Amino acid sequence: MSTSKKHIVGMDIGTTYSCVAIMRNGKVEVISNDQGNRTTPSYVAFADDERLIGESAKNQAAMNPANTVFDAKRLIGRNFGDRTVQEDMKLWPFNVIDIGGKPVIEVQYKGEKKRFRPEEISSMVITKMRETAEAFIGEPVNNAVITVPAYFNDAQRNATKDAGTIAGLVVDRIINEPTAAAMAYGFDHISSGDGEKNILVFDLGGGTFDVSLLTIEEGVFEVKATGGDVHLGGEDFDNRMVKFFIDEFKKKHKKDISSSDRALRRLRTACERAKRTLSAQLTAEVEIDALYEGIDFVSTISRARFEDLCADYFNSTMKPVESVLADAKMSKGDIHEIVLVGGSTRIPKVRELLSKFFNGKELSTKINPDEAVAYGAAIQASILNGDKHQQAGLVIDVTPLSLGIETAGTDMTNIIERGSTIPCKKSKKFTTHSHNQSMVKIVIFEGERPLTKDNNRIGQFELSGIPPAQPGVPKIEVVFDIDANGILEVSATEETGGKTNKIKITNDSGRLTKAQIDQMIKDAEIFRDEDKKSVETSTARNRLQTYISSLEPDAETKGYKSNLDECIEWMKSERSAQEYTDKFNELSSTVSGSSSEDQSQDGPRVEDID
Ligand code: AMP
Repeated sequence: MSTSKKHIVGMDIGTTYSCVAIMRNGKVEVISNDQGNRTTPSYVAFADDERLIGESAKNQAAMNPANTVFDAKRLIGRNFGDRTVQEDMKLWPFNVIDIGGKPVIEVQYKGEKKRFRPEEISSMVITKMRETAEAFIGEPVNNAVITVPAYFNDAQRNATKDAGTIAGLVVDRIINEPTAAAMAYGFDHISSGDGEKNILVFDLGGGTFDVSLLTIEEGVFEVKATGGDVHLGGEDFDNRMVKFFIDEFKKKHKKDISSSDRALRRLRTACERAKRTLSAQLTAEVEIDALYEGIDFVSTISRARFEDLCADYFNSTMKPVESVLADAKMSKGDIHEIVLVGGSTRIPKVRELLSKFFNGKELSTKINPDEAVAYGAAIQASILNGDKHQQAGLVIDVTPLSLGIETAGTDMTNIIERGSTIPCKKSKKFTTHSHNQSMVKIVIFEGERPLTKDNNRIGQFELSGIPPAQPGVPKIEVVFDIDANGILEVSATEETGGKTNKIKITNDSGRLTKAQIDQMIKDAEIFRDEDKKSVETSTARNRLQTYISSLEPDAETKGYKSNLDECIEWMKSERSAQEYTDKFNELSSTVSGSSSEDQSQDGPRVEDID
């Protein structure tokens, strides 16, 4: 077993660019790729002899447009018939087909037709980011926190998680991009004792524009409203400048370059560079040798001209800001912080408009806007990793260990998984084991081991008054509810009779310390194989035990009492999983005719029926 530390990276897998970061020695490091760039194009290209990802894929896009895939994020978790998919397809040079109602990308690869689901394309980008991180750390990276837009639905989140899994990663958490950006600024700290804070995250990237309004209270984030434009970003601004120079070329040279793909491509690259220059300077030069029919093109553009060309786009960014405020029933004055995300928020005019809208309020710009999301994801990753270097006072908004109850007398059945955001509420249904069982004992544990004997018991209570019934019939719902302060309330309710009971467990009474939690997580790793065996043995034993209990009432009349007695005696010694299974088979063939199927769940006290 490897003794090296577990590395969890934060990944922002963007529509046009991706970024990876990790927390090391208490500092977030945004990791440069093999080209020295801190963001990597979310591009995958298929060629006759190779597959390219990132810069190399983007650079050859013009030569191989039909087999260069980008924008996979616009497809992930969607159906082929979705309006946005149908609209986007019109703009893509690659082919998207309908397979079982899902969009699938079709390319030529190594001389053959190949099909890839959007999550497979994303997994290739994730793999590239993983390799970038591994090259930097010099050790394998197996875990990641991946961010998604706040408006992503369950299917899109799950598909993103699948993309991580396909890339061979354990995705410890999917978090919202605006939440990550707010975490990057440490806004999860400022609220303690101060009440609720409202944060507006303004994310203007290469091709998408997202506005989110978050509230944060005691380290817990809530997305109140989202808005934006799925097709607005830096590429639109580039296009405006391209059009401006096409017109200029026409005027100067009486020639239309727009029929030449190569000329357009070179002009677009030069315009994007000029646009970036204009964020820092008042004028930018555009110089392209032999742009069209051997004619060199040299020109300049001022910031004022560029702002004029894009004025309608820039002004339009204020509308979603207004609408998220309205949706969240807030006014401008209620916003405490404004966070800028996405490369296009470097444009001075965009900043000016936004600040003016909020009556001159200062914007949070300290963290590189291309990197803020990955930065925050790395902080979340570090929290999940129980990083010792986390600053004191950082509000942990996740459960440090799994929480669950004991079933079958020995097994840990998780109800809330480790790393779940708090506050949270989860429930599971259980049933009884024996005939006319009127009481169940709910014993609550925290920990990562499959057998409760290895976990930490944090409380217990009984639920009595269960109406008499066959085993497996009563339905007992057990609810775990953790509030923002980490106080856990566990309740159990028997559904037919309506009897209920509960217990409150604070996070300081009998709970594990930070060091013990770390040890618990380490132990779960160390004893993984052993635990797997124990669980197999316990499952096989419980199956036999349950079977015996189910036979007991009729044993006398049906004439197999001596077999049962012999079995019960036999079970008093420790046996292996195989021995229990063999015994089960032996007993069920003896008793053949009586139903043996599906009696096999758990054991005494409560049984998991979910
Ligand atoms: P993102 O998708 O967030 O990485 O944003 C990338 C977009 O930001 C591209 O359209 C870039 O051209 C644009 N961008 C990056 N840096 C600047 C800058 N300094 N000024 C204006 N736009 C920029």
